[in-house]
Amino acid sequence: MTSIDTAGLKRMFDAIAVAIEADKDRLCQLDGVIGDADHGIAMALGFGAVRDALAPLDLAATEPTALLNTAAKSFLNAVGASSGPLYATAFMRAAAAAKGKATLADADFIALFQAMAQGIKDRGKAEIGEKTMVDVWLPAAQAAAAAHAAGKTLSEILAAALEAAEGGAEATKGMIAAKGRSSRLGERSLGHMDPGAASAVTVIGAIRKSLP
Ligand code: ADP
Ligand code: MG
Repeated sequence: MTSIDTAGLKRMFDAIAVAIEADKDRLCQLDGVIGDADHGIAMALGFGAVRDALAPLDLAATEPTALLNTAAKSFLNAVGASSGPLYATAFMRAAAAAKGKATLADADFIALFQAMAQGIKDRGKAEIGEKTMVDVWLPAAQAAAAAHAAGKTLSEILAAALEAAEGGAEATKGMIAAKGRSSRLGERSLGHMDPGAASAVTVIGAIRKSLP
């Protein structure tokens, strides 16, 4: 069993910032097709702000919950697009799930991951099939919980989550947008991957790579 401490969570956010920065142009292009072409910029601003806010923290004196609340606040302040409050809520819920814990065991991390997915769903009020990042986060969280229940290692759990995430993002191509900016396109949104679903795969992929 793995145990994730504050330093591990910081490494995770640093890895997400690097992955999102590298993916920025593709995410803007995807958003250009069914939205306003800013999604890569928004996500890079958000995770860049998280990285900068976490950098000066004294990790030995910071609990996971405090780090996650710092991430939530900095992401929200940096991002004006709709992804801002969605990810900020995810990190706030993660902070609540980690409250009182100095380190996170596998079960704790799965609970945190599920809390993030549920937070995004609650904040945006999107259901599965409405062509949003929820179509990635929910199946990924469900796959993680199922893999954990089946006794898999954290690395296997996150691999299962990533696979479900990729399937979810691919599936958004066949959906008509019902939430957010792209819902104005109606049927014209068909055939294109949702940008928030695409970035969620990048985030989950970075989480998988950064954790043991
Ligand atoms: P904006 O639409 O304000 O420009 P972004 O471009 O940063 O914001 O993010 C767009 C993404 O946000 C969409 O691709 C979708 O995945 C996600 N999104 C938008 N509205 C919602 C919602 N109500 N619930 C969940 N996700 C949403
Ligand atoms: Mg946009």
